[in-house]
Amino acid sequence: MNPAATYGDVLLHIDGRWTPGSERATRDVHNPATGQRIGQVACASNIDLAQAVQSARRAFPGWRDTSAMQRRRILHQAAQLLRQRIDAIATVLTLEQGKPLAEAKAEVNMAAEIIEWFADEGVRVHGRVVPARMPGVDQRVLKHPIGVVAAFTPWNFPVNQAVRKLAAALATGCTIVLKAAEETPASPAELVRAFVDAGLPVGVINLVYGEPAQISQYLIAHPAVAKISFTGSTAVGKQLAALAGQHMKRVTMELGGHAPVIVAADADPVAAAKTIAVAKFRNAGQVCACPTRFLVHRSIQDVFTATIADYAQGLHVGDGMAAASQMGPLANPRRRAAMQEICADASAHGGRLVTGGQPIAGPGNFFQPTVISDASLDSALWNEEPFGPVAAIRSFETLDQAIAEANRLPYGLAAYAFSAHAPTIHRLSQELEAGMVWINHAAPAWPEMPMGGVKDSGFGSEGGAEALEPYLITKAISVMHLAG
Ligand code: NAD
Repeated sequence: MNPAATYGDVLLHIDGRWTPGSERATRDVHNPATGQRIGQVACASNIDLAQAVQSARRAFPGWRDTSAMQRRRILHQAAQLLRQRIDAIATVLTLEQGKPLAEAKAEVNMAAEIIEWFADEGVRVHGRVVPARMPGVDQRVLKHPIGVVAAFTPWNFPVNQAVRKLAAALATGCTIVLKAAEETPASPAELVRAFVDAGLPVGVINLVYGEPAQISQYLIAHPAVAKISFTGSTAVGKQLAALAGQHMKRVTMELGGHAPVIVAADADPVAAAKTIAVAKFRNAGQVCACPTRFLVHRSIQDVFTATIADYAQGLHVGDGMAAASQMGPLANPRRRAAMQEICADASAHGGRLVTGGQPIAGPGNFFQPTVISDASLDSALWNEEPFGPVAAIRSFETLDQAIAEANRLPYGLAAYAFSAHAPTIHRLSQELEAGMVWINHAAPAWPEMPMGGVKDSGFGSEGGAEALEPYLITKAISVMHLAG
């Protein structure tokens, strides 16, 4: 298939219009499976950014005052449009990001579910009445949308990282300027198009691309922007949170992780390995909640390692557009280089390459599904987020050791564990320092469950009822009713 045949150039969406931007600047977009240029994305100047913010500011009062029921109707329509357009959107997603088409379709389907869930939750945003200390006084707590939101989303789930921010902002009555990832611009543009076509008023949603640092500096400092939401690396998140702090802007930070997987002595090592392997290699490991540090009880380490290595060797790695592909390329050449470095460093730190460890020859950013056991704890693999298809395995003797190792890193996004023993499950639930803990399975981050990290993995939630609160301000109203 000729990728260029289905991939169009991507424009900005500002004040209700699709536009190439005032300077007509562009960046090339490449297919990570072939290395070929497949299109270009428009880049915003500060003039364009100013227009986007002004548009969002103008649209805010109208959207704020639109009833939650009407907002819900529009959001449901957007979800329906996504489902109708799933084949086209999944195709551009795979062409620009690399994941197998089935994973891209699952991402679009999940996006529709996320929109519907937030739309429904939006009508349940309400305040409360607080009993007053004096007769004749009426005390109420009101929730209002915070205002204009600036959101920044990455390339690993170009649709789903964006949809959580868009859906929460729109459902609560906020307006938004989204900067999606320049490397994967077409699929988030199609997401925005679904909202626009569903009937969002002009200015409620704006989409920009360009130079990330320029855009974030401009938007975060802009006095009309009330809230910042970022998904990406911890390093960039810290910079943006510091900038937001200077301007006293509220932030949600969805950052990196290095998720531990504790496989307790009583667990079935074969079942555990088969279950977690699917999560490990999904999206070629480029998932913030990806299981990465496998801590396996010494008595079952060999069986667990052999089973996960078997799975890795059996994976069909190829172009995401090919029906047989189970794992696509890495999304950009940076990640492939990072995998080479992390594998070489692990070998230098005593790691045993059980399988994989090499880039796959030919065009594209392909890398072998990799399993490395027993690299030392001071290796990069055991300290830095791999964000790729590399599983690191070490053994432990006692649960105390496993929990201490799981909690050793500054990250705290996701953690996984396998055990059938109730006291073990209880301890893990209580003591693992992570925002999301999956025990005996690895489910998707459903919209109804909180999604977010602790420690250096950020703060704020992008799922569950908690995900609406960051887009709301709380106002205390106290009224004394005058006689007569
Ligand atoms: P990066 O840190 O350069 O960029 C990460 C994301 O942040 C990209 O989308 C990028 O466009 C954006 N970004 C970078 N600088 C920015 C700035 N000054 N202002 C606004 N946005 C900015 O790294 P990368 O090579 O693109 O990705 C690699 C690392 O990013 C991974 O190791 C992983 O830790 C992290 N990452 C995390 C997630 C996640 O879901 N939490 C997603 C993608 C990448």
